[in-house]
Amino acid sequence: LVELDRAHLVHPVASYRGHEKAGVRVLRSGQGARVTDASGHEMVDGFAGLWCVNAGYGQNSIVEAATRQMQELPYATGYFSLGSEPAIRLAAELAERAPGDLNHVYFTLGGSDAVDSTIRFIRYYYHCLGKPEKDQFISVANGYHGSSTVGAGLTALPLFHAGFGLPFDWQHKIPSHYSYRNPVGTDPQAIIYASVGALRAKVAELGAERVAAFYVEPIQGSGGVLVPPDGWVKAMRETCRELDILFIADEVITGFGRTGPLFACTTEDVVPDLMTTAKGLTSGYVPMGAVFLSDKVYNTIADGAGAAAIGHGYTYSAHPVSAAVGLECLRLYENGLLDNGVRAGQRLMAGLHALADHPLVGEVRGRGMLAAIELVTDKANKTPLPASSEPARRIFDRAWDNGLVIRAFANGILGYAPPLCCTDDDIDRIVDCTRTTLDQTLEDP
Ligand code: PMP
Repeated sequence: LVELDRAHLVHPVASYRGHEKAGVRVLRSGQGARVTDASGHEMVDGFAGLWCVNAGYGQNSIVEAATRQMQELPYATGYFSLGSEPAIRLAAELAERAPGDLNHVYFTLGGSDAVDSTIRFIRYYYHCLGKPEKDQFISVANGYHGSSTVGAGLTALPLFHAGFGLPFDWQHKIPSHYSYRNPVGTDPQAIIYASVGALRAKVAELGAERVAAFYVEPIQGSGGVLVPPDGWVKAMRETCRELDILFIADEVITGFGRTGPLFACTTEDVVPDLMTTAKGLTSGYVPMGAVFLSDKVYNTIADGAGAAAIGHGYTYSAHPVSAAVGLECLRLYENGLLDNGVRAGQRLMAGLHALADHPLVGEVRGRGMLAAIELVTDKANKTPLPASSEPARRIFDRAWDNGLVIRAFANGILGYAPPLCCTDDDIDRIVDCTRTTLDQTLEDP
């Protein structure tokens, strides 16, 4: 497999020759929160694949739901006026649970095309309102909004911009709330004040009459699990209302129990104008994403658009098998998984916080089953690990050998997003393997 992979499989996000040299690691099976590699080595999946297997592995009822749907009707397009029962039912179930008036659901294949779709919807929305000049978009530094070309422009990670002239000139950023290395310090009110001020200043600079929307992740994921202070999301939402720009919550990672509730923005009673989700929607068993549209946005487009105006969609939009899986995932979340995730999340956060004294640990942060440890070589000066993928790769490899799959970001941040079905034993193993890995790294960096 290693040789075949080297010769033929092009991986997303990899330094190709570096990756070829290190060799691929192949997973063979999974059960609950555990995965087993091709050599039979068992690990806790501390990252739920790529923050997505929220329901855990080996959930037979999901497999049965998919099988039933494949046997009955494997495909129906959602195009035009066509549809399938699971897609309609899933849209209705999601709308019932979504915050506020997010009553309309547009299905995609994943998170990137969900984000792309929001840009389309927003442009249609302003077009229908007779304000087509509102075409400037703002997001937050360290944010991640996908790797399609448009989403990558909203994404604030340079790796995703190289060679494409990104971001586009209509895509802008404000500084992140990232507090550990934030020049405005760690005082929550000062951070909120700075972010609100930065958004106001950016909108003033561009002209409020030209700004369409502002994007946030309730917790920034791929930027390193950066948790804003309590009240930040609400303050940004209110500022958008005042400035007359749409507020978009990208809940691709934070949705479906990752931080506790079904949607993280409900923690601060925030109702976005649009919301994107994916990952936990189908728990990685099949691909699917969803854009939620408020009554205000949907009705404006529906009433105002000419027949040709809404010209975007995908062959696999509203795929019936994905929808059947989504319905079963929702049932599992509400029949114990969300509650278990809350309990397991408290244990995870307590366990990771107990590592705060370790000489390599600069900061422990997170909420629910979404956490990170930021590593430093010198605690007092917050000296980061060398900005290279080599030390991160070594930590990742060691953790793997110790029985834990984690995400080791190139900047020395360890990310955690285990399945919501974790037992106490799974969580304890995550923490123990982390401690062992850190001790080994301290001894031999
Ligand atoms: N938005 C956010 C917040 C994400 O974390 C991701 C993926 N990590 C995406 C969008 C893109 O989703 P996908 O990889 O499914 O296209």
